[in-house]
Amino acid sequence: MSVLLICTGRDPQVWVNAIREQQPDIKLYVYPEAHDPQEIKYAVTWKHPKGVFNKYPNLEVIASIGAGVDHIISDPEIPKNTLITRIIDEQLTRDMSTFILSLVLDKMRNISVHHGKKTWNPLPYQTLNDEKIGIMGLGVLGKAAAQTLSSNGFKVAGWSKSRKQIEGVSTYHGERGLQDFLKSTSILICLLPLTSETECILKKELFEQLPKGAYLINVARGEHLVEHDLLEMLDKGQLSGASLDVFRTEPLPEEHPFWKHPKVHITPHIASVTDPKKVVFQLMENYKRMLQRKPLMNIVELKKEY
Ligand code: NDP
Repeated sequence: MSVLLICTGRDPQVWVNAIREQQPDIKLYVYPEAHDPQEIKYAVTWKHPKGVFNKYPNLEVIASIGAGVDHIISDPEIPKNTLITRIIDEQLTRDMSTFILSLVLDKMRNISVHHGKKTWNPLPYQTLNDEKIGIMGLGVLGKAAAQTLSSNGFKVAGWSKSRKQIEGVSTYHGERGLQDFLKSTSILICLLPLTSETECILKKELFEQLPKGAYLINVARGEHLVEHDLLEMLDKGQLSGASLDVFRTEPLPEEHPFWKHPKVHITPHIASVTDPKKVVFQLMENYKRMLQRKPLMNIVELKKEY
């Protein structure tokens, strides 16, 4: 049996090298090189062409090389009997938390603004107690980010689907908890998975529930955000600014209004990137477990979509 690697928009060779180093005897094909679809039981993927897995009658596992699985689940033709796995990795989690911390500090202390202005004109001084951070999504990444911010002295709240208890963090859940969560959040951070429930969640009606002048950080997926609503809210002053790491179209097209908007700060999907060398063990361990008919790690519930 062989492994298929489909890697769109990322360099497949680094993954090939990492996989071969971990498991030198593996039979590995990089899509679309010639191979017999019957042979493939395990696919390691990032943004596969939709419908492609229909060609693989013996496919048992589709493994995402990232924490998110929206790129897999959004394919309506995913064979229903395959298992889907995702990456959970300490370094990926830590990188996300520190990236968010740096954005929050930069926003609060106006560091990039001062760099950009090149004039001696201090903006109003802000300190920790002036901000209340609200994190949407308290999963692996959201919980760690909440704990990092809280341990750095910030007031932190979090919102999730089910009830959570996290020391030092005020928690809210479900649709009922959303309004209370939003009403005191001055910096809103989106760390939700992209699902049919969370798509377009960052919209005008939600922004209007935040205190005037709140700030948005989206490090989850571009499809969470209704872009024209963000522009309207920024222009009306309901939001004071936004840091966006993810976009509906990546790379963000040159003509996109976000590039020129003075209140939009863009990073090119770099919040936290999987290091192949760090995660190849879990990918190959799951491959072995699949062959030995043992339970896999980090399985995603297809029905839940994350
Ligand atoms: P998890 O699956 O561990 O956590 C998801 C969280 O979102 C859970 O707390 C879940 O609630 C909550 N949630 C899901 N649906 C809803 C809903 N409808 N209403 C309220 N809460 C909801 O995901 P991770 O933390 O590992 O990752 C989050 C996302 O971050 C990924 O899906 C990916 O899109 C993005 N990401 C971005 C990166 C970047 O570089 N920009 C890098 C890596 C990931 P509950 O706990 O109750 O189930």
